[in-house]
Amino acid sequence: MAAKAALNGKQMRSFHTDPMTGEKTGYADLDYGAVTIEKIQAPNAPPPSSTLVFGHSFSDHMVTANWNSLTGWAPPAIHPYKPLVLDPSSVIFHYAPSLFEGMKAYKDVNGRIRLFRPDMNMARLNRSATRIALPEVNGKELTKLIAKLVSLDADFVPSEPGHSIYIRPTLIGTQAALGVHPANEAMLFVILSPVGPYFKSGFKPVALEADPNKVRAWPNGTGSYKLGLNYAPGLQPQMEAATRGYSQNLWLFGPEHLLTEVGTMNLFTAIKNDKGQTELITAPLNGLILPGVTRDSILGLARDHASGKMRIEGLPEDLIVSERELSMKEVEQAGKEGRLMEMFGSGTAVVVAPVDRIGYEGRDIHIPVGEEGVGPIAKRMLDTINDIQLGRIEHPWSVAIDELI
Ligand SMILES: *Cc1c(COP(=O)(O)O)cnc(C)c1O
Repeated sequence: MAAKAALNGKQMRSFHTDPMTGEKTGYADLDYGAVTIEKIQAPNAPPPSSTLVFGHSFSDHMVTANWNSLTGWAPPAIHPYKPLVLDPSSVIFHYAPSLFEGMKAYKDVNGRIRLFRPDMNMARLNRSATRIALPEVNGKELTKLIAKLVSLDADFVPSEPGHSIYIRPTLIGTQAALGVHPANEAMLFVILSPVGPYFKSGFKPVALEADPNKVRAWPNGTGSYKLGLNYAPGLQPQMEAATRGYSQNLWLFGPEHLLTEVGTMNLFTAIKNDKGQTELITAPLNGLILPGVTRDSILGLARDHASGKMRIEGLPEDLIVSERELSMKEVEQAGKEGRLMEMFGSGTAVVVAPVDRIGYEGRDIHIPVGEEGVGPIAKRMLDTINDIQLGRIEHPWSVAIDELI
């Protein structure tokens, strides 16, 4: 099928006009139907699952698709995994027009491969793209390309419990010209990395350093977009925290030292209120935090439990779910009064990461994690999300790839 000139209103924004000629003709949408497939000549054996280190090994194939502002998306290709060749003047190396997504595919109990809420990743990818003047991508077509890639490399999807294949869609500006302006050429690619469970031998709670002088994001900034430029500035604070025995930064914001996120995860805190009810709190989507798919899923499950729509055994009966600001003062006070019940990070790579300690203004706040190293809310959320991802619970969030292509 030839690339169809499917014009989508949103994609005809001015920056898709060629900056040199002002032309905007024949703009093509990303088209799964136009994909060319070149298979690897000598397939590699998938790495043994016991040796997997997150993000270190990749499958045999990848997706690439090129875009330019004159003609839009060229037909995508699936081909052997290989290095990219880019001109050193390429804008990606100088001004960081780069965004990424992180999602996973799982082999279910019947050997079927499933994605988890891919529509959420596609929507976020397009919000990120718009923010840095990169082209939007047709999310339905990209999801089909991902499904095709994963099915081609199905042998690389580990089937052991807790294992999966991590999917990394990436979009970069590639125009070869210095000068800060919207890129008139871009490249989309997708690579796959087989991964094992984040916690190999039981839960290992993380210790966080909360330093109000280290800021990850600010109002009207870019903290709520999954842009490459948000991550390098977090590395030095993380190294500093590590020298003091903390594995991640708890990012605070403002004079009240509001809790925002932890490392590259969203953050949940459970506090008992004065009526004895358990309140599960996470920061609101106010531009300071990344709108995580896992965050949204935990909120959804917690609200369904609280409303009685779908009860989750083991969660507090009287759970209250809050997207609201939470300050270090409130956390510390709750800790002193024995009302600080639980804290955990959330993200695709780990699902949930229990927190047992926060270093703050020269003292440590301790958070209970129980004998298992994980609190009851984090544990129930992890189990329920795993059950959905593996198709043990029928749920619309879980999408079998054979139904997409
Ligand atoms: C990706 C990411 C998250 C988690 O998002 P998920 O969609 O749940 O994986 C949280 N915070 C930051 C800063 C992130 O980059």
